[in-house]
Amino acid sequence: MARYREANCKLCRREGEKLFLKGHRCMTDKCSYERRTYAPGQHGQRMRYKISDYGKQLREKQKVRRIYGILERQFRNYFARAEKRKGITGEILLQLLECRLDNLVYRLGFAPSRKAARQLVRHRHFLVNGRIVDIPSYQMMPNDVIKVRDNSKNLDIIHSSLKEFAQTDEIAWLRLNKAALEGELLEIPERQNIPISANEQLIVELYSK
Ligand code: SF4
Repeated sequence: MARYREANCKLCRREGEKLFLKGHRCMTDKCSYERRTYAPGQHGQRMRYKISDYGKQLREKQKVRRIYGILERQFRNYFARAEKRKGITGEILLQLLECRLDNLVYRLGFAPSRKAARQLVRHRHFLVNGRIVDIPSYQMMPNDVIKVRDNSKNLDIIHSSLKEFAQTDEIAWLRLNKAALEGELLEIPERQNIPISANEQLIVELYSK
């Protein structure tokens, strides 16, 4: 399966904000963006140009795509699916991305980053409604339950991550049972309850050209 293999921190520097792609490191002063807030590359420090409307739309799309760790073609497919549904396309796009299995594993705190969540899912550490699912893009539905497999319950990465990253106190649409290593998607989140700072309307404008 194709995936992004370059340095994650360059992506934050390119987008001009912290995208929190590396888990614990992002919270420390080792974060590259804290030390170098300019764009990567030889001319990164000199890049001060006025950004066009198209540029703004492109950057917003790239930012959201990178936050969720999705390649261009798959992101376009998500947009096409969002466009076909009734409702606000930008909001539906974010809902589809939020309800991916790897994202929910991350939001529940079973993994320190989406990238780590993706790997844990690929390595078959989770059950969804009692069945092993190893597809990171698996689309979760309301009342679906994610559970750590019995064989995987002693994994350090899951326990240390739960201590540090469980976000469910702030996310009302998820339920986490730490003792049982189990979480549930209670409902499809509305836009105001999706904790990412992005202007999804710019993405809609970009793809509608
Ligand atoms: Fe981005 Fe995290 Fe790297 Fe900082 S440490 S630049 S937030 S990926």
